[in-house]
Amino acid sequence: MAEIIDGKKISQQIKDELKEKTAALRAEGKIGALAVIQVGADPASSVYVRNKKNACAYIGIESLAYELPEETTEEELLKLIAELNQKHEVKGILVQLPLPKHICEDKVIQAISPTKDVDGFHPQSVGAMTIGEPGFLSCTPAGIIQLLKRSGVEIAGKHCVVIGRSNIVGKPMALLMLRENATVTVTHSKTQNLPEICRQADILIVAMGKPQFIGAEYIKEGAVVIDVGIHRDQNNKLCGDVKFEEIEPIASAITPVPGGVGPMTIAMLMNNCVQSIEEG
Ligand code: NAP
Repeated sequence: MAEIIDGKKISQQIKDELKEKTAALRAEGKIGALAVIQVGADPASSVYVRNKKNACAYIGIESLAYELPEETTEEELLKLIAELNQKHEVKGILVQLPLPKHICEDKVIQAISPTKDVDGFHPQSVGAMTIGEPGFLSCTPAGIIQLLKRSGVEIAGKHCVVIGRSNIVGKPMALLMLRENATVTVTHSKTQNLPEICRQADILIVAMGKPQFIGAEYIKEGAVVIDVGIHRDQNNKLCGDVKFEEIEPIASAITPVPGGVGPMTIAMLMNNCVQSIEEG
């Protein structure tokens, strides 16, 4: 039976630590707001935005909501970002993705000042992470590192296999595991013999976006399994990329969906906001 890695509990610990830190910073006169921009009214995005605003309220950071209509032009969005870049009291700028098709996400990400890039998506943040310089870390992979460390999973010297190479999860995940001295293998849709490679993993991180794809044949006895995927199954229940019931008896530790990686992403976003306030 695997230990269930409780992302809800660990994210709560982190938010409580951040709440204390925010209060201490406020006492020193260091305050700041997170600007949250949503374009359009995609229901899933609205839930994420609401959760982010609630997290800000919990730890004691002001959030400024910009709810823009679907037909907002790229130029209008870039103008708003340019204004927020100039506002001293705004310490973080978050543009909820995905954006409507007529707006180029890369252009928008690159318009955010790297000093306010609390999502950690700007090329400068990614570059800093790659060479181990200070900067904002991408929230989901940074949250997974915290999950592992706070659950007592040793990373150094372990073989970590990452499934997925997206810019927001797979690639930064591999880099952060490398930084923690894991031996890292990155796999993707063109990888051959995926089950065989995964069976070599001491730590398997699955970010492929395929509902309940990974079954027992991918898992070494005693491996730690981190499931990044979020989907709705045919009964509208949340599930991950991993067949939880099948893998739980084989793994030594596993994250559930929901309640695993998901809550950590917001906790790390808050961590980046507090870091930004601290840096002034
Ligand atoms: P993505 O951009 O769709 O990337 C998926 C990756 O998986 C790609 O690199 C793809 O390979 C690889 N892949 C797809 N099918 C594969 C296969 N059969 N074998 C091996 N590799 C395969 O997805 P993402 O943005 O990284 O997100 C992944 C999942 O995590 C999604 O379910 C997403 O909703 C979830 N997510 C959760 C959180 C959270 O906070 N919990 C945050 C972000 C994302 P190619 O590069 O070759 O196409």
